[in-house]
Amino acid sequence: MLLLGITLTGSIAHQEAPSQVAFEAIAAAHFSALYVKRDTLSQASAEPLVLRVTPLGNGSIDDLRPAAAWMREHWNVRLVVSPNGVPLYFTDKDITSRGDPSAIGSSLSTGVALERVPPRVMGCVVAHELGHVLGLGHAPSDDQLMWTHCTGKRLDTLETSKAERNAIGRLHQITAYTLSGPVLWAYREA
Ligand SMILES: [Zn+2]
Repeated sequence: MLLLGITLTGSIAHQEAPSQVAFEAIAAAHFSALYVKRDTLSQASAEPLVLRVTPLGNGSIDDLRPAAAWMREHWNVRLVVSPNGVPLYFTDKDITSRGDPSAIGSSLSTGVALERVPPRVMGCVVAHELGHVLGLGHAPSDDQLMWTHCTGKRLDTLETSKAERNAIGRLHQITAYTLSGPVLWAYREA
């Protein structure tokens, strides 16, 4: 199981804080997919990839807008709010995860949990974690969205690589398999 965390520089999570919530507890309570399968194309498509997302907890559409704009421009991905999408669980509590006690966003293949942080950081966290959902790993420099941390740099100054864009362009669809059957999380419009 791959668990990836990103941290906000300067934020410290305290082990005993009553407001903490474990990422694994969020996943167990709110993520219904058993596993996720990504189908790829032999070459990148020019058609937008539609990615369905389901905000849970106390998230709102406004939390998604900056990330949606960035993903459309840089990855040709169209974010759509749907009950049959990737679960995005927003919480005001401090998320802890095994990999990183000061994570502000964590994802595994079956869903994403996010701390509600100031809007200037939220766009980076949402887009970064959805990058993991799309199959991306971490990038080597801090001017990239997929760097390990969201440092508070303006989202519109963060970049993606040609390799990342190509990897997303080659996604045909993402299917989540649940006890109720398969759910299409991402697909090409054409
Ligand atoms: Zn990450």
